[in-house]
Amino acid sequence: MPSPPSSFDLVVIGSGFGSLFFIEGYLQKRPEARVLVLERGSFHSHAWQIEHGRNSSIVPEETYRTPAGHKAWNFTIGVGGGTNCWYAQTPRFHPTDFHMRSLYGVAQDWPLTYEELDPYYVQAENKMSVAGAAEMSTVLPRSTPFPLPAHKLTSVDEVMRRAQPDLHVPMATARASAATGQRGRCCASARCMLCPVNAKFTFENGFTNLSSHPNVEIRTGCEVTRLDVANGTTIAAIYRKHGFEHRVKGELFVLGANAIHSPAILLRSGIDHSLTGVGIHEQAGYSVEVLLDGLDNLDGGTITTALNYSLYDGAFRRDHAGALIYFDNRWPHGLRKEYGRWRQLAPLVVVVEDLPQDTNRVTIDGDGTAHVSHERVSRYAELGIERSWAALRQVLAPLPIEHIEFRGMRATESHIQGSLRMGHDPISSVIDAKQVHHQVRNLVVVGSSVFPSGSCSNPSLTVAALSLRSASLLA
Ligand SMILES: Cc1cc2nc3c(=O)[nH]c(=O)nc-3n(C[C@H](O)[C@H](O)[C@H](O)COP(=O)(O)OP(=O)(O)OC[C@H]3O[C@@H](n4cnc5c(N)ncnc54)[C@H](O)[C@@H]3O)c2cc1C
Ligand code: SF4
Repeated sequence: MPSPPSSFDLVVIGSGFGSLFFIEGYLQKRPEARVLVLERGSFHSHAWQIEHGRNSSIVPEETYRTPAGHKAWNFTIGVGGGTNCWYAQTPRFHPTDFHMRSLYGVAQDWPLTYEELDPYYVQAENKMSVAGAAEMSTVLPRSTPFPLPAHKLTSVDEVMRRAQPDLHVPMATARASAATGQRGRCCASARCMLCPVNAKFTFENGFTNLSSHPNVEIRTGCEVTRLDVANGTTIAAIYRKHGFEHRVKGELFVLGANAIHSPAILLRSGIDHSLTGVGIHEQAGYSVEVLLDGLDNLDGGTITTALNYSLYDGAFRRDHAGALIYFDNRWPHGLRKEYGRWRQLAPLVVVVEDLPQDTNRVTIDGDGTAHVSHERVSRYAELGIERSWAALRQVLAPLPIEHIEFRGMRATESHIQGSLRMGHDPISSVIDAKQVHHQVRNLVVVGSSVFPSGSCSNPSLTVAALSLRSASLLA
């Protein structure tokens, strides 16, 4: 039996969205490349996750520290990373999200445009068999149709769409609207973290080409602690397995350990950039319940059926955050109690963008553990919450509203991002437009850590598209 190689063409740290889509794109151009993936967690099959009622045997809070009262973060440690726990909501970012500084004077511009990303969005959508409707292109232009048709809308969506056809659009989602060969059809059971029928895209059902690839080795239980760097070049990745330290050499290194652990690895490696770990953020979300007068709802085809963009973009983004309204097809606050009116309600989630702030950052403690400080969202986001709540009744005017109930702020949107921002300028960004570290030129950073600004939209489709683009430019 041949001995395993001691050096690899590609050493990839972490096996979540950013890493997997990078490997996918890289092997398309360099199919002979030898790839090693170092993954901290284990592989947990769909069957294991359903049986144990969780996505991983490792709890996120065990992997980092945070001061009491600071915000919570949610992620999965394990093969496939966020593909295990995600809800498979896949809207693209809005074209304006890439130009927040030049359009509105806040945050930083991205070093690429929506139009440049479109072909990679298409590739990622095809890989995940995203379900969606042509009508979405009124807000988010696209060069090709969605691979699968959109899910059935609810009665509430139908009313909203008739009144606001350009702003209320069917959801784009990697929850299958028809059987795909690997996945069954979504049946709206609304517990996507542990989808009982395996309808959403995951590592296990979607990346069989990588898990069975003869040149790809996924080594589990390997916690990468640091990189060995000399003269601006990464020589090796150092990892812990079963209490022992190991070292593996490679030509190109890809860091995709999530927006908390990727900066922690760079900090432990002594790769100094003043913005490493700085600006970690996510959206601020709140729940709303709309009681309806005479309109039965909850008859849609999946957990979230539509997005409303009325409060997303405009000149107001100079002063306060935009908001995206998610129209849900579930009943998190219960059904109505009045006889015959059980379904006369519409649960919404309003998601407000936040700005990266210098005070919110990832550092490392004396013993090397990742430490996340995030005391509060920006004033920009706070104003966005106030203004979106004030404007909500107007947006929902087409519906027969009886009452709108604020159901509280959500602890987290489960989207960690922005701790290793990308940009053209090596002073104001950590990695360049191709996602290569400005100082270490054989080190690529992937995942949502690279976002220079947030967006109201879910991040993973954009993570996937960015990785496909970076791999295509570098391979
Ligand atoms: C409950 C939940 C629901 C979500 N729903 C959605 C959704 O509907 N739509 C959406 O767009 N996004 C959703 N997300 C967010 C999505 O999961 C993230 O945006 C996405 O996973 C980020 O990709 P990433 O590559 O940056 O990190 P991840 O996908 O988290 O990958 C990081 C990988 O690195 C590994 N790792 C970490 N540290 C180390 C180390 N030291 N050494 C080796 N390996 C390491 C991890 O185990 C993991 O495999 C959801 C998240 C959660 C938690
Ligand atoms: S709505 Fe239900 S069937 Fe569809 S992906 Fe979520 S859990 Fe699975």
